[in-house]
This record gives sequence, structure tokens and C-alpha cells, in this order.
Amino acid sequence: MRIDIITVVPEILKSPFEASILKRAIDKGLVEIHIHNLRDYTNTNYKQVDDYQYGGGAGMVMMLEPIDKCITKLKSERKYDEIIYMSPDGERLNQSLANSISLQENLIILCGHYKGVDQRVRDHFITREISIGDYVLSGGELGAAVLCDSIIRLIPGVLGNETSALTDAFQDNLLSPPIYTRPAEYKGWKVPDILLSGHQKKIDEWRDEKALLHTKAKRPDLLDEEY
Ligand code: SAH
Repeated sequence: MRIDIITVVPEILKSPFEASILKRAIDKGLVEIHIHNLRDYTNTNYKQVDDYQYGGGAGMVMMLEPIDKCITKLKSERKYDEIIYMSPDGERLNQSLANSISLQENLIILCGHYKGVDQRVRDHFITREISIGDYVLSGGELGAAVLCDSIIRLIPGVLGNETSALTDAFQDNLLSPPIYTRPAEYKGWKVPDILLSGHQKKIDEWRDEKALLHTKAKRPDLLDEEY
């Protein structure tokens, strides 16, 4: 998979890809991340990427031309499956959306800043708009990093144990059961006996039951959803 991220603040997008699971995925060649600074696609001396709103009103708007140049250049080099704009009014990111996007080959993710982008960018280039939740961020970069993390960890080979993404919360609309590691007892707080029993079938049943109880208690809405 190849992901091209377009931004006016590339600094924000560095560290998420420089450590841990995402870095390993890049090092293994399972994903390529290319970050493009929109200011490299401007003509003006002072590298202008935003301007005042027509009709007045507070807040600057990201201009059409640098975005057009950047996206057009990328599209001339390869075919993209989706050109995504991070936006609070987009489709809400959830696990099933992450699953389906993780199957794509080439993605562009456009990060807004200031008030957002000129509407014509959305009308003419964007194929999908994604929100990471009902709150407003100051820029799309953190949202893009969240989206990338959620999809990259699903690419086969990224997680050490291939099955581990499948047992995460939401994969079958269930939250995860509780997990424990050594020691088996600490300050009198014990790990449930069943997990130490060695009966894999019983352990699996216990986990399924806990996952269901946990979901009923915390997120009953998930049990009504289709997946
Ligand atoms: N004026 C816009 C908000 C702009 S916030 C509005 O009211 O809808 C600036 C940028 O941050 C947006 O262009 C978008 O790229 C990003 N952003 C803000 N909140 C987001 C969210 N919940 N999910 C994804 N991106 C978001």
C-alpha cells in the first residue's frame, strides 16, 4: 500500500511513522508513506496556501491551485483508489471503514487547516471524506495519522502475530475481553483461574462470554449494528 499525505504542516506527521508498529511496517516495505508539503506547490514568493473567504467571515481558506497542482502531479504518476479529505463533516471512521480502506493500493489523504479547503477541491478531486469523530481539530494531520494507523495495522504481516488484529475490539462488533500478564498474583490481586488452567476451549469460551458482557455493559449499541 502507498499513502500520499498532503499537508501544510508536515512536522505533525513525522513522529507517528517513526516508531513502533508503523515504523516496522514501513521498514518491512508493507506500506510507503509520502508526505507532501503544499507550500512546495505554490508560485508566490511567500508560498501562500490560504486566502480570505469570499463573502467575508473569520478564518482563512486553503486555496485551490496548490492542491490542484499536487493532486494532479500525483495522479499523473499512478492510479489512486481514493482521494480522501479529512473533515469533521465526513463519514465517521470506524473499524469496518478501516477494514475496507486497508484493502486499497494507493491513497491520497488531504489534510485541511485553518477553516478548511475551497469547496471546489471537494467537488472536483475528493472521492471520500472522513471524520475521526464529532469534534473539531485544528488540522487534518492528527486525523490522517489516526486513519493511517487504523488501516496500516490491518495489512497482513504488519502485526507480529497475524491473528492479533482479528481479536481486537470491534472486529466482530464486540469489545475485547480483559487481558492479563505476569505475575499471576500482585498485592493479592489475582488473575482469573481459568486463564491459568491450560484448557484452551474453556478459556476461549470465557473470553467470548466476557467480551459479550463487556459489550452489553459499555457499548450495547454495537450489538444492534450490522457488520
Ligand atoms: N470549518 C470547518 C472545520 C475546520 S478545522 C468546519 O466547521 O467543518 C480544520 C481542518 O481540520 C479541517 O479542514 C479538517 O481537515 C481537519 N479536521 C477537523 N476536525 C476533524 C475531524 N473531526 N476529523 C477529521 N478531520 C478534521
